[in-house]
Amino acid sequence: MKITKGKRFSGGTHIPDRKELTADIPIEIMPSPDIVAISLSQHIGKPSVPVVNAGDMVSVGQLIAAEGGFVGANVYSSVSGKVAAIEERYNPNGTKSNYIVIENDKNDWSAQPLPEMEDKTAGSILQRIRLAGIVGMGGAGFPAAVKLMPKQAVDCLIINGAECEPYLTCDYRLMKEKTDEIHTGIMLLAKALKVNKVYIGIERNKPDCIKAFSEYDDITVVDLKKRYPMGSEKHLIYSCTGRKVGLGKLPADAGAVVQNVATAYAVYEAVELNKPLYERVMTVSGKGIIHPKNLLVRNGTPLDMIITYCGGMRDDSAMMIAGGPMMGPTMLSSNLYTTKTTSGLLVTTSDEVDMSGPTPCINCGRCAEACPMRLQPMLIDFYAQANDFEKAAKYGGVKNCINCGTCAYVCPAKRSIVQSIMLSKKKLAEGGK
Ligand code: SF4
Ligand code: SF4
Repeated sequence: MKITKGKRFSGGTHIPDRKELTADIPIEIMPSPDIVAISLSQHIGKPSVPVVNAGDMVSVGQLIAAEGGFVGANVYSSVSGKVAAIEERYNPNGTKSNYIVIENDKNDWSAQPLPEMEDKTAGSILQRIRLAGIVGMGGAGFPAAVKLMPKQAVDCLIINGAECEPYLTCDYRLMKEKTDEIHTGIMLLAKALKVNKVYIGIERNKPDCIKAFSEYDDITVVDLKKRYPMGSEKHLIYSCTGRKVGLGKLPADAGAVVQNVATAYAVYEAVELNKPLYERVMTVSGKGIIHPKNLLVRNGTPLDMIITYCGGMRDDSAMMIAGGPMMGPTMLSSNLYTTKTTSGLLVTTSDEVDMSGPTPCINCGRCAEACPMRLQPMLIDFYAQANDFEKAAKYGGVKNCINCGTCAYVCPAKRSIVQSIMLSKKKLAEGGK
């Protein structure tokens, strides 16, 4: 039994976790939807390239789009049926991508699974992870195989079981219900990365998971203090190992690779069950949802169907968010679809969110004190409002922002700091600065 206490990083804040709505609800398999719309851009990297056409019949687990480059990901059908269209549709963050729309015939015809693996060497595991279309399922969606091939020498794998976003319990339920499978996936990841040192960081609001993983001798469980944003890669690495990832540096520069528990589970399924990634567990929560749940959903499931399956929305529902409330985008419509990275769907009521508008900054400094990247969020906000994005970068440090939302959460003036950050990043990217 190896349990160590995590180190405390500077900055961050305590946020009520509100996980009680779904923490004790087992994962339920959602019935397959009448139609799915599967995004070709559900990962960081080049969009996937369709290998089917409108009118084609497809099966569950059939390759429908191939990776568009080295940093890309294969995409598999989550239902059997007919490809109705390949067309542009909206993503939860308001941008648009191409989607493969499939009418589900509800026969659940299964494609041949991925071929049986002859051996489980580091190379063949990597190849399998890539073939199965596995991406980081904690939210970022970076192709997992690419992350497992860092240019720098690394000596440890860190598994992210923090799940620090309020409301979300999908990782918690997975760790609780699929402990052995996740452990197998973790050891496969370690083998692919060729490291012996393996940590799993779990926030201490999940003591049963800390205990369950401490039964394995080949992993060190890190008992993490509950502090947002513990699940951020840089802060998790520091908390687990004491290593600092410098500004502008990658986890691999500190000798570490981080993968999420759901990713480890997908690796288990791909290697041991020959199953590509076409479904995942997500949390549907918030007081605005009649029956909050943890659901196993097929990739491309319409969000409005998920809401209906969970009993619908309360009359006083106020806001819909894709993912967790700290980092997830607010959605104007539920006419959207799940992806490999959809960890949650929140419907809040007006008493759960502060709907009052921003007031002038009072220079209290709380945002800077809480910023885990030691940035100056009030300056980012000030200069972004003045359309001076170079100064937002120079004095606020916006390029190093991890979009955690802590600054906005602690701001007593309810400044729209996150919007200022997003705008600054967009403008700086457009200007190439
Ligand atoms: S400035 Fe960025 S990194 Fe700092 S608290 Fe705000 S969102 Fe988080
Ligand atoms: S927390 Fe809000 S009010 Fe205080 S300095 Fe930052 S932006 Fe201004």
